[in-house]
Amino acid sequence: MSPLPIISVKNLVKSYGEFTAVKGISFEVFEGEIFGLLGPNGAGKSTTLEIIETLREKTSGEVMVNGFNIDDAQEAIKKMIGVQLQTAGFYPNLNLTELMQLFIGLYQTDVDPISLLKKVNLEDKAKSKYKELSGGQKQRFSIATTLINQPKIIFLDEPTTGLDPQARRNLWDLIQEIRDNGTTVIITTHYMDEAEVLCDRVAIIDSGEIVVINTPNELIDELVASGFEKIKEVKKANLEDVFIHKTGKAWRED
Ligand code: ADP
Ligand code: MG
Repeated sequence: MSPLPIISVKNLVKSYGEFTAVKGISFEVFEGEIFGLLGPNGAGKSTTLEIIETLREKTSGEVMVNGFNIDDAQEAIKKMIGVQLQTAGFYPNLNLTELMQLFIGLYQTDVDPISLLKKVNLEDKAKSKYKELSGGQKQRFSIATTLINQPKIIFLDEPTTGLDPQARRNLWDLIQEIRDNGTTVIITTHYMDEAEVLCDRVAIIDSGEIVVINTPNELIDELVASGFEKIKEVKKANLEDVFIHKTGKAWRED
């Protein structure tokens, strides 16, 4: 059975004046996968995501989201996606229940704020103010807000940047759980270990062009098959494994 594309991007171009940030990229995201968009700063990842999210105008190309064209079905698309907002957008003095109620009101739906907080393991913070949360808790809260409208697809733009290893791994579990419950996830990250563990498939984008798309495993196998060898002898563990082994996997003030 071949996987069904839930997002299809064809020859997408985005120019900012004279500068072309996205240079005719094409890719598909399959239903039910975690798809990673990887690339250095300025590669065009956020621009691409925001165009698919209908938050930014494209210059040319075609983008279909769950059968809808972004050119003429922006409202329909907005209803079935969840977008992680920059954390700065939250009122710092409201508690999590109040903030969640505010967002639920915006979506004009009727979900229980506490059940959403539970999904991201923040029910014990229901009465805490947003500004009192740690970095990882803030990220988990903002992921919870993407789930309000029971979206088919969620978009996470660098959700783990700046988090400690425990918080990062907890977010991986959360994101995999969301995928396992049937939501397609598109994520950007600078952490290759993260992409390797978390993503079903990745696209590497550089200067507005896609360099490769495949599963992490096949990309690594292809590189090895091409004769690539690591200079250093490969150890059975890395420093991060040592860190986790010594400090434990328990949830911290993340
Ligand atoms: P990434 O998310 O991969 O770091 P972006 O999509 O944010 O990259 O940006 C891609 C390129 O487009 C960068 O060179 C950036 O400076 C430029 N860019 C992004 N937004 C704008 C804008 N509103 N006006 C002009 N240039 C922009
Ligand atoms: Mg970006």
